[in-house]
Amino acid sequence: MQITPIPCLSDNYTYIISDSRSKTIGVVDPSEAQPVISFLEKENIKLNYILNTHHHFDHVGGNAELKKKYNAKVIGFIGDKHRIPEIDITIKDNELWVFGKSPVKIIHIPGHTSGHICFFFEKEKIAFTGDTLFSLGCGRIFEGDHKQMLNSLNKIKKLPKETRIYCGHEYTYKNAEFCMKYESNNIDLKKKFEQIKKLRSQNLPTIPSILEDELKLNIFLRCDQKELKNKLNMKNQEDLEVFRKVRDLKDSF
Ligand code: ZN
Ligand code: FE
Repeated sequence: MQITPIPCLSDNYTYIISDSRSKTIGVVDPSEAQPVISFLEKENIKLNYILNTHHHFDHVGGNAELKKKYNAKVIGFIGDKHRIPEIDITIKDNELWVFGKSPVKIIHIPGHTSGHICFFFEKEKIAFTGDTLFSLGCGRIFEGDHKQMLNSLNKIKKLPKETRIYCGHEYTYKNAEFCMKYESNNIDLKKKFEQIKKLRSQNLPTIPSILEDELKLNIFLRCDQKELKNKLNMKNQEDLEVFRKVRDLKDSF
C-alpha cells in the first residue's frame, strides 16, 4: 500500500492511497480536484474511493468533481451525511470498513468538528487523523469541547506505537516552535526540530510521523506528564485542565 501526499491550497495535504494488489485507489480529504486529477493522470490510474475525515471545505472541496469524473464513491461519517458533499457510503464509530483487501477501523474523534473520524488501516498501521491530531499539534476545537478533544486524542494514543500518522495540514514547523517553548529540554524534540527545519527548507513534507514520536514530542499528547504539569505550575491539576491550558496557549501563540 502506497500513500502519496499531494499538497493542496496553502498548507493542506490530500493523500492518494494506492493498493496495487487489489488495484484499489482512494483519496483522503481532497481539498481540490485538480492536483488529484493531475496525479492520477500522470500515473494512469482511476479513483475508486473518496474518504473524508470531516466536512470542512478544505477537506471535501474536490468531492463533487472527482466523483463525477471517476464515478468514485464518497465515504464519510454517518452523523455528517447532510454536510459531506456527495456522500455515498456512511460509516459509524468502531465500524470495520474494507478498502480493497485492507480492513479499516473507523474511529469517531469529535472535538474539531462533531463528526470527525480517523481512518485506521489495521494491517498497514496507517492512520489518517485529519484536523484532530497534527504532527506536534492538535486541531482547534470548533464544535466540541476540550473534554471531547482530549478523549479523542486519547483514542489515537492507544493505537500501536508504530502507526504512521497522516494528518490534514503541514503545520509541523510552527507546532514544533510551540512545543519547544514549553519543553525546551526535551532532547528528542530538539533533534526533531532540526529535521523539520531541514525538510521544510527543501519544501518537503514532514508527514507521516510515527505515533511513538508524537507520544514523546507532541505537547498535546503529554498533558498527563509530570514534567509538563510542573513546567506549567499545574502540578496537582487534572490532565483535562492541563490540556485546556495548553490549547489556550496555542490559540494565542
Ligand atoms: Zn478542519
Ligand atoms: Fe483543515
